[in-house]
Amino acid sequence: MQKIFYLLDELEKIYHNEAESPELGHDEPLDGLILTVLSQNTNDKNRDSAFTRLKAVYPDWEQVIEAGARELENLIRPAGLANTKSKRIIDILNIINHDFHEYSIKKLADYEPDYMRKYLRALPGVGAKTVACVMLFDFKLPAFPVDTHVERVAKRFGIADKKLSPEEISRMFESIVPPSRCLGGHVNIIAHGRKICHSRNPECKKCVLNEKCDKIL
Ligand code: SF4
Repeated sequence: MQKIFYLLDELEKIYHNEAESPELGHDEPLDGLILTVLSQNTNDKNRDSAFTRLKAVYPDWEQVIEAGARELENLIRPAGLANTKSKRIIDILNIINHDFHEYSIKKLADYEPDYMRKYLRALPGVGAKTVACVMLFDFKLPAFPVDTHVERVAKRFGIADKKLSPEEISRMFESIVPPSRCLGGHVNIIAHGRKICHSRNPECKKCVLNEKCDKIL
């Protein structure tokens, strides 16, 4: 457990802790959910390009339903897997509208986090990472999404067993990291994975975690 706090402390010293950054969330959490669906199997640039194109043409989710899956597919093409993602998005929007009588998931904030997690997880194509992102960024709840960077750094550093799934690592972080440090910790580990602890050829000599890292490569 001490090693986790060592990692959080060291990374906080060198990366900007963006925990209070307003751009890491949406007034309407449904926007965050759809954005995260678009992010699956692509990079942030392509995800953002698709989302911006979509919102520029259809600012309201109701308009997307009226336009239909084919039109949606064309607009979100930069994010890849447009056919699959458009169907998922349409299904999600229909379920949300059925359950809340509006294209909004703001009312989920009235429920316990466990219920929110279960509800979001049951939506088509929505996995543990997407749920954790929406809870953390859009509902400002203590969740710890584990993407490829977080998984890699956690396993190499030796705070997560090699056999653990991303969802299990996420639960491990959530059980240990205080709520106020989840967002900053998540953002900082991703920054470290991108800048130093690369998938190939990690720059261990430059790494602030070098001394205590197990380097399980
Ligand atoms: S010491 Fe190397 S393997 Fe360990 S976290 Fe740093 S870059 Fe990654």
